[in-house]
Amino acid sequence: MARKGNAVLLGEPGGTEPGSVPCGQVWGCPVCAHAVRRARGHEAGLAADAHRRSGGRVWAVDCALEPAGPGQLAARWHLLPAAWRRVVSGSGWGGEGRRTRRAGVVWTPRVTWSEPDGWHLVLRVLLLDRAGREELHQDVVARWTAQWANGAGSAAGRVRWRPAGTRRETEDFMAAACDGSAGRRPQAVELGPADLLARARRTGAEAWWELWREYAEAAAPASRGHRSPVAFSRGVRSVLLPGAVYQTDAELAAEQGRATLPPLTRPAWSRLAEDGGLQLQVLDAAGRGPGHLAWFLDDHGLRTVEKVRLVA
Ligand SMILES: [Zn+2]
Repeated sequence: MARKGNAVLLGEPGGTEPGSVPCGQVWGCPVCAHAVRRARGHEAGLAADAHRRSGGRVWAVDCALEPAGPGQLAARWHLLPAAWRRVVSGSGWGGEGRRTRRAGVVWTPRVTWSEPDGWHLVLRVLLLDRAGREELHQDVVARWTAQWANGAGSAAGRVRWRPAGTRRETEDFMAAACDGSAGRRPQAVELGPADLLARARRTGAEAWWELWREYAEAAAPASRGHRSPVAFSRGVRSVLLPGAVYQTDAELAAEQGRATLPPLTRPAWSRLAEDGGLQLQVLDAAGRGPGHLAWFLDDHGLRTVEKVRLVA
């Protein structure tokens, strides 16, 4: 780590080689998960706009499961893709698609923790159709509710419908992004995965570490059920976003270039100068990309002279 003026350039000869640490963990890494969800949410917003311009309707649907207590997240998560398959398969799904002239669906699982009832799992779905008549739409609502209940059994929660809002609202709905900032506010009660990690690191309390580990373990097998955090049905991209360049999740998560340590405040600089272990961690974070570095500095209270934003 070499010092140049007020900034430290990371990755100088003799240091850890930045860029050598692959990350791209789109479920477990708070920075990569945030980047991928934001980018996919943006795509979903563009697709919804294109669909509206051609006279289509866009619905934001929350398919919920009943909350589950500590230790039950993995088992509950398995029900999410199973129940969703009931909704989107069979002759009911096909017939509905023809009657409503459906353009497609985009879906994403959302996991949060809140006291007192524990894990909340919701499948967020954007439905793009042309069910112009109200009774036709009500048929769709009734079939989804029935199939969701069939698939999830006693764990089935409510299926809630509303017309999707502006593009920004649609993006936020699908991104369901979580940058960990709520986890640093002691009064926040609804916590996403990155919030659990931030709170565990901040407080050091074993209970929060346990919840974070439970999420990380549950997310690994669940990611086989939903390969990408935000999935698009066939045709949504090709029809509504023609010509858009497709990037894989790994490409979205990968942030290019070396990270330059922004100017730190004097107390932050003193702490870093005295702590070799912390310096190595900073190098590691920088090797994963600028977003990781910003996250790490913020999470460890290493204040910068100017506010560093988490790269979205
Ligand atoms: Zn990452």
